[in-house]
Order: sequence, then C-alpha cells, then structure tokens
Amino acid sequence: MVKQRERVEQLPTYIQGKSIPGAIKLSSNENPYPPLESVAQVVRDQAGSIQLYPDMGAVAIRARIAERFEVRPEEVAVGAGSVEVANQLISAAAGEGDEVVFAWRSFEAYPILVQIAGATPVAVPLTADDRHDLPAMAAAITERTRLVLVCNPNNPTGAGVSTAELDEFMKAVPSDVLVVVDEAYVHFNNDPESADGIDFFRRYENVAVLHTFSKAYGLAGLRIGYAIAREQVADNLRKVAVPFGVSALAQQAAIASLDAEAELDERVQVLVAERARMTEELRRLGWPVLDSLGNFVWIRTGERTSEIDVALRESAVIARAYGTDGIRISVGSPEMNDRFLAAIAPVAPISAD
Ligand SMILES: *Cc1c(COP(=O)(O)O)cnc(C)c1O
Repeated sequence: MVKQRERVEQLPTYIQGKSIPGAIKLSSNENPYPPLESVAQVVRDQAGSIQLYPDMGAVAIRARIAERFEVRPEEVAVGAGSVEVANQLISAAAGEGDEVVFAWRSFEAYPILVQIAGATPVAVPLTADDRHDLPAMAAAITERTRLVLVCNPNNPTGAGVSTAELDEFMKAVPSDVLVVVDEAYVHFNNDPESADGIDFFRRYENVAVLHTFSKAYGLAGLRIGYAIAREQVADNLRKVAVPFGVSALAQQAAIASLDAEAELDERVQVLVAERARMTEELRRLGWPVLDSLGNFVWIRTGERTSEIDVALRESAVIARAYGTDGIRISVGSPEMNDRFLAAIAPVAPISAD
C-alpha cells in the first residue's frame, strides 16, 4: 500500500443520482429538456476545433456574464461546473486548521470539498422546518472560520433564505469571513422575499455568489459554472483553478445560453408550474410537503425513507433518498411527473404532525 493522505482515505465518495434502464430518473435535478437548437448548433460548430486548448482566461464568457449582471469581468471566475468553483472558493480560503461553516442537510459536495482542502467542516443542523438556521450558523463562527456556505434555495429541502434573514446574518459575520451564496437554483426561485445574491454581493464586500449553467440552462453535461466575487477573491480562484478546466464547447454554449435567456426562461416557467402541481397533488394525497424554490420537491420521509424509495423504484421511478431524512424528487417533464405521481399514489403517506 502506498502512502495517501489519511483524510482522503476516510472520505465518503460522492454519490451520483442513479439511473436504471427503462426507469425515469428524477434523482439529479437535471433539466428534462434537450438543448435549444441555437445552443446545440454552437456545440456542433465548436466540435471541429477540439484539437485546440480552450481559452484559459475564459475571456468571452466572463465578459458576457459581467455584462449580464453589471459587474466587472475581473469579478467573474469560471470552473468546470459550480462544484469546481465551490472547490476553488474553499481551497482559496481555507486549509489545515481552518473551519468552513454550512447548513446540514445541504449540498452533499460541501463536506467532501472542505475535507479535501484539509479544512474542518462545521455542519449546522437545519431548523425543524428544514430551513437554514442562520442565527445558529452565526453562532458557529469562530476565529478559525474562513468561509460560510449559504445554499439558497437549499438542496435538497427547497427552502429559501429571505433578504431580511441574510441581512441579519451578515451583520453578525466578521467582515473578513467570506460568505458564499450558492444560487444553483436561482432561476426557479420565485419568492419575492428571497435574498438576491447579486444584490448582497453589491452591498457586502465579503459576499460571493455561485451560479451554474447545469440546472435552468440544461448544460449539466458540459460542465460550466461561475462565481461573482470581489477581484481579490476572483483572482485567487483563477490561481487555484485546474488549468484549461472549462472546455471551449462549454464556454461557447454558455454564451449562447445567455443569448437565449428568454427562450430558456419559458422552459423554466413550465418546470415552476409543474413543481406547484406536484406539490399540490402530493398534499392532496396526504404528504407533508414544504414549498420548494428549486427544480425539485422534498418529502421528509424520516424512518420510512428507504421503504418509500424502494416502492418508487419498483414503479420504475428513481428519486434521491437521503438516509433517514427524506426523499428529493426532481421536477421533470409533465409526463415524467405524472409517472412519479402515479407511482407514489398507492404508497401510504407520512402523517403530517
Ligand atoms: C447542482 C448543484 C451545484 C452545481 O452543479 P454544477 O453542475 O457543478 O454546476 C451547485 N450547488 C448546488 C447546491 C447544486 O445543487
């Protein structure tokens, strides 16, 4: 046996949403729609140049993102998916002996990335109604804390963080601790009270925002996401990034997607309407479902989680089960969602108490 880092030997492996032939996959929060023709065409055109390295500075896409959000290109850093950008943010801020605070349950990659960086994860339990407990998160900050991750809306529970709550939280956070607002699902978030990460970035020096092209824009397979952060931080993200990590296909498809934002938003609105339909139908069947602001719904199934997961699977519907916490079901096309609703209809619901 060769010597490996002890921490790495002990890490859990990130688990991908399962897929089974013939079953419908509602386990990875993927966009059910194929790429827009305008985006697919750009990818086909770009395929003729894959013998070349991409632009390492990602100049064109960073300029396009900067224009879109009225920030400077220097304040934009890209990565191979926002997971890679989260990795950059963590490794730029925290190492051995440092702490990174996040809510739990939240995005599964957080504790893994923190441990890879050699830092200490500080997981703060969600409230009883599955929301971020921001006062408890503020109380968990010590002189060792370098970074706080706020997932809005939270994956997998779908709960949002309001502007008032985040302002209150920011007042308690030291100005030299970076707060990263992960807005992977921002396009699906239709709560007017919800905190707007970009607005917080403008108002607080120590806020960075994480966005992805994987969910609303349907580019999960191409791997591109970005952070908007102060230039000091964004420069460091570029330093720790894997060189040439974002392909030219991804950079060009991202530009084409921003150019087609209105068309993509029509699809997002279909998914938002489907989310409401699934939520309503689940409640009608007797399931206690909280409002979700993402492209998924969350059922707190507790001890019955694995039983219900198996029942869905037997009806060829793959959802994502989380231990003894709950089940997350991605919002698919109307047909896929009908299949999910038909699969769950015969299952006895959890009592809402
Ligand atoms: C899906 C997701 C991401 C990012 O996905 P990428 O494909 O790496 O861009 C980031 N954060 C959260 C909370 C997510 O659910």
